Amino acid sequence: MSVARTPPARAGSWPGVIEAYRPYLPVSAKTPVITLLEGNTPLIHSPALSERAGRRCRVYLKYEGLNPTGSFKDRGMTVAISKAVEAKSVAVLCASTGNTSASASAYAARAGLRSIVLIPSGAIALGKLSQALIHGAEVAAIEANFDACLALARELSARYPVTLVNSVNPHRIEGQKTGAFEICDALGQAPDVHLTPVGNAGNITAHWRGYREYRAKGRIRKLPVLLGFQAAGAAPIVRGRVVPRPKTIASAIRIGNPASWRSAIIARDESRGAIASVSDRQILDAYRLLAQEDGIFAEPSSAASVAGLLASAKAGYFARLGRGRPLTIVCILTGHGLKDPERAIKSSQMPPTLPPSLTAVAKAVGLGRR
Ligand SMILES: *Cc1c(COP(=O)(O)O)cnc(C)c1O
Repeated sequence: MSVARTPPARAGSWPGVIEAYRPYLPVSAKTPVITLLEGNTPLIHSPALSERAGRRCRVYLKYEGLNPTGSFKDRGMTVAISKAVEAKSVAVLCASTGNTSASASAYAARAGLRSIVLIPSGAIALGKLSQALIHGAEVAAIEANFDACLALARELSARYPVTLVNSVNPHRIEGQKTGAFEICDALGQAPDVHLTPVGNAGNITAHWRGYREYRAKGRIRKLPVLLGFQAAGAAPIVRGRVVPRPKTIASAIRIGNPASWRSAIIARDESRGAIASVSDRQILDAYRLLAQEDGIFAEPSSAASVAGLLASAKAGYFARLGRGRPLTIVCILTGHGLKDPERAIKSSQMPPTLPPSLTAVAKAVGLGRR
């Protein structure tokens, strides 16, 4: 029997976002690349949503839940952690609604760094908490909301030798712009419209930067219109003022004072787009629709982009924008549905418990005569 040789550091041909987009990123030959082969997520055509969006609309879903830790945060984290190692940092710190902590703790584990995580107590989804814990982060649950946790994290990083890896770290934004690159690479051009949930507003900022850089380099000709969606109970950008106690079931976008507020407004205005709000009801309807018509399980916060798509279609937005021309539309699905199994169960009917009887089971599951 032959002994298998040590497998290569990467499987297949996708090298992770740093190697895939190196000329666009703030790395040099001296930067140690810490990667879990993030990125290269599928852009999935949705016949069901295309139909709902309206005539001549072609809707694609960028399924970021398929990143290594289950959200787009990995795109930024590979760059932030690689740069932290390059800078000889030994510990990283973040405040998180969940996914940043999941990503930071995984990449820190990979790099041999300590990770410290501040989460709003009782307010993060179970799957995300389980990730931070199993990757060995030092987790502190703070009796405050995300915005207060971020303020605390900023202060700690100013006073102690830890690297802050929230999206206020510019390397995070740099890495996250690769999401836009991949969309353009897959379509051969930019989409007409790009819809995304907005929380701390780092991702809408990053995507806009990505599209602009691709256009500057001649990779695409036109830029998309950006539509961002906040939850109605956590919509500071829509209202034009800080929301002190943001409320929504979409915990990843439960943010009342976004760190990248100003750059989100710039992205909105330069792209001739909009940032609007969707209700929790609309978010949950879109969440179930995605799962039941497209077979895609995304977390509730992700469904905000689809809720926004449906609301925009209903308001005649795409018909006005397209004026009879075909429109290519991309919705970002930011995180995986398994992050929050409790929400999925709460949003469904619990299965009946039955005796092991053929007739009883057939009847209960809708087979045979009722
Ligand atoms: C982080 C996150 C968001 C919000 O992204 P921002 O960059 O903070 O606007 C949305 N959905 C999910 C699943 C996230 O993890």
